[in-house]
Amino acid sequence: MNIIRVALDVPVMTLFDYRLADATREDVGRRVIVPFGKRLVVGLIVDVVGDSGVAPERLKSALRVLGDSPRLENADLELMQFASDYYHHPMGAVIMGALPAGLRRPRSSGGAQRQVVGRFMLTEAGAAIDPSALPPRAYLKRRLLALLHERPVDAAEARAFSTRAPRVLKDLLQQGLVKLDASTPPPHTAPSSPHSAPALTLEQQQALTAVTADLRRFQVHLLLGVTGSGKTEVYLHAMSAVLAAGRQALLLVPEIALTPQLESLVRGRFPEIRLVTLHSGLNEGERLAHWLAAQSGQAGVVLGTRLSVFAPMPQLGIIIIDEEHDGSFKQSDGFRYSARDIAIVRARQHGVPIILGSATPSLESYFNATSGRYRLSVLERRIGAPLPLIECVDTRGERLEDGLSRRLLQSLDEYVARGEQSLVFINRRGYAPVLMCHSCGWISGCHRCSAQLVLHLGERRLRCHHCGHNAAIPPACPDCGNPQLEPLGQGTQRVEDALARRYSISKVLRIDRDSMRPRHAWHAMRHRIQGGDVKILVGTQILAKGHDFPHLNLVGVLNADSMLYSADFRASERLLALLMQVAGRAGRGTTRGQVFIQTEFPDHPLYEALKRQDYRAFADTLLEERRQAGFPPFVHQALLRAEAPRLATALDFLRAAAASARSLAAPVMLYDPVPAAMPRRAGRERAQLLVQCESRAQLQQFLGQWHRALFENRSALARWAIDVDPLEF
Ligand code: ADP
Ligand code: ZN
Ligand code: ZN
Repeated sequence: MNIIRVALDVPVMTLFDYRLADATREDVGRRVIVPFGKRLVVGLIVDVVGDSGVAPERLKSALRVLGDSPRLENADLELMQFASDYYHHPMGAVIMGALPAGLRRPRSSGGAQRQVVGRFMLTEAGAAIDPSALPPRAYLKRRLLALLHERPVDAAEARAFSTRAPRVLKDLLQQGLVKLDASTPPPHTAPSSPHSAPALTLEQQQALTAVTADLRRFQVHLLLGVTGSGKTEVYLHAMSAVLAAGRQALLLVPEIALTPQLESLVRGRFPEIRLVTLHSGLNEGERLAHWLAAQSGQAGVVLGTRLSVFAPMPQLGIIIIDEEHDGSFKQSDGFRYSARDIAIVRARQHGVPIILGSATPSLESYFNATSGRYRLSVLERRIGAPLPLIECVDTRGERLEDGLSRRLLQSLDEYVARGEQSLVFINRRGYAPVLMCHSCGWISGCHRCSAQLVLHLGERRLRCHHCGHNAAIPPACPDCGNPQLEPLGQGTQRVEDALARRYSISKVLRIDRDSMRPRHAWHAMRHRIQGGDVKILVGTQILAKGHDFPHLNLVGVLNADSMLYSADFRASERLLALLMQVAGRAGRGTTRGQVFIQTEFPDHPLYEALKRQDYRAFADTLLEERRQAGFPPFVHQALLRAEAPRLATALDFLRAAAASARSLAAPVMLYDPVPAAMPRRAGRERAQLLVQCESRAQLQQFLGQWHRALFENRSALARWAIDVDPLEF
């Protein structure tokens, strides 16, 4: 066998064949440098065959197999292959996208054909050296020795530490201070006993027992626990059982930067276990080192965002997905996978349990749990204070002050006077969502998107939140010359402004994507919040995600109505989830929280459900509606998305695609091609074609055939992609 099939990061569905002398099955999963066009690129060997469809003399030779990182196991490759098939995304792009950047390109180290895989560790002589006693100019040597005092290090990790590290290690090797251990690393050590774990409540104990009853069997558990009911504690206990068995735990969260508490909680609970994080905030070296630690089994816990679902974990023993309903688990461009769904497939593949936790699970998961496919565990009681009191404030016929009702302002006065914290929630950042001329009706629109430019008064600019376009605030109306342009509506900055005037600047803190942008901003803000100076937080949904502010007792919600009527059939599900999460921030200490929802529709069923805080009743109603309307989870959907410089081009492409779909005579329902909800974005016109089917298998079969047909007849005019299980329309 001397032909390898290589996955490369190029947008075609095929693998590429190369010659490689003496290739064996052992090479599957290894990285390899191959010529591609005029370049040399890194690919991954997914198969070794004796025969290629391509004539042997036309095959190019692979340059060199890389031995500087362990190979991907078959199980990992199978998972990626599944994702590639299911989402109709090229295998090469799936694999190379999952690998940390440090493994995606040839590294300059060069040299040997196959490098040794092994770990550097201290010899007795090396262990006798006190790194801090070394002279200051031996900086790298000192730090490497200090690291080696803690644990063995492999070559890739060392390189991630510093590009000069391999050379220093070689010197240390020659001096006999370090030796190379080529055996596979032992798994991480097991924990003695969990530190300072509270005794579980009965509900928590029942949920835990359900999970730990059989840790060697695949089972999806839906942990539906109201906010503050102690879901995290159930995760920690389940992880503890898995770690004690010497296995690894994968914990997926929507966003890590905002939940540093979780990381320190896990670290504190399992001090002798190595925890690594995987998320986009890490630098290249960190990501590589963390990935390798997961792959070697040294990391007992991997805590990450959606991309970590592909991190190799040979001893995987459990997967936990916190806030499983969160939209960020689905990637919204390129490889449009759902990390939650892939995680379920992965748990089944490994034969291990997976916990999906949420106070407001997605209807898909909830339906699976109530219909018996998943096991449902419910935590109905909050630990500490009971659930907050939720009230609607009817704003009809009231002149709001910068969006704030009298009722809310009075309550804010009281809470501030008592020294308690409040949160004013408004789901729009910026000063005002639009700038308007009242004499001619001109409004600030983005010329590249079907969207309005948001007024950011602080920077004195208009910004598009979709394409990033920004412009100076015009001194007068561009259409009629009227110098009196007025901001229309409220954003976080305007509310912050108003509250700062009423109380004082130091008492008000705005928390949104803009104020969080600087690195470490969140760290500093948390400090201020916990310092007790800040009395009012003004924030967007960034704040809805699992933070624990013990002194926050009042929550006011400003523009919920704007999200009430939307064409998207998931709008109510999302809004209820969002509001329950926001409301759940109130009263997590010992005082019962109070929540005000400002609305012109106080009798809307969604607000009624919110006031009762009965997610299940509302979910049952929504599910019944979905069943009648024939929407997911009762059918499965896929969206063919197309974009082109002109809308007509995109629509023409979709009409041709629909004709091709019809000719396949599959049992799927095809909708008419339509412009996207936001037709123009960043200068491109977008349209879409929805396909649905009651059977997932039939839909998949159809998509496979359709995708091939579309690919064979592709035109250069429109860009297109299939979005399986789309969440956004
Ligand atoms: P959730 O994730 O369900 O919103 P948390 O896991 O954050 O809730 O728990 C809320 C609070 O209750 C946390 O401060 C946690 O430390 C505490 N807690 C959880 N379980 C227990 C328990 N069994 N006994 C005492 N306190 C607990
Ligand atoms: Zn005008
Ligand atoms: Zn724009």
